[in-house]
Amino acid sequence: MKIICIGKNYVAHVKEMNSDVPKQPVFFLKPDSALVTGNKPFFYPDFSSDVHYELELVIRINRLGRSIEPRYAHRYFSEIGLGVDFTARDLQAEAKQKGLPWVMAKGFDYSAPISKFLPLERFGDIHKLSFRLDLNGTTVQEGHSELMIFPFEEIVAHVSRFMTLKTGDLIFSGTPAGVGPVAIDDHLEAWLEGEKLMDFLVK
Ligand code: MG
Repeated sequence: MKIICIGKNYVAHVKEMNSDVPKQPVFFLKPDSALVTGNKPFFYPDFSSDVHYELELVIRINRLGRSIEPRYAHRYFSEIGLGVDFTARDLQAEAKQKGLPWVMAKGFDYSAPISKFLPLERFGDIHKLSFRLDLNGTTVQEGHSELMIFPFEEIVAHVSRFMTLKTGDLIFSGTPAGVGPVAIDDHLEAWLEGEKLMDFLVK
């Protein structure tokens, strides 16, 4: 399976990164070795001193598809959860400056903790989902899927023009504003529509 991550999908986050609003979805990959499940700890890597959290809505692909039309894209996912796109911001800044790939900054071990997944029927309208992240008991990110620049269907359609989507692939759909650093012993908790789905420590 592969982990596809969308960058710059919320205007307020694009602004906090001093970047430009993209005209089409920006995406990158993480390897499956980045995954962490079951609220196990995030182990802070020794090659970075500025790892940031990015809480994101994550959908799971449920069938094979390529060059999917936007109007059919909703048929290709039926579950949603939360994930943290951990980013070594110092490595990413260096990569951006030198025009190098982001893979070391984004794809390192433990960089993709995910929650359990819930059936979409639970939620009604997928375009009206709120989610939030607390760091050590203080809310640091609040997101709403209505504010996504590219909604899930457009992301699925766009990505599938370039790479075949397979059952089990995950799509991290971008982070809202409020990203920031974590430190060892931090406690992260995340909610989707009021249901707590993530609760883990930085080690
Ligand atoms: Mg992200």
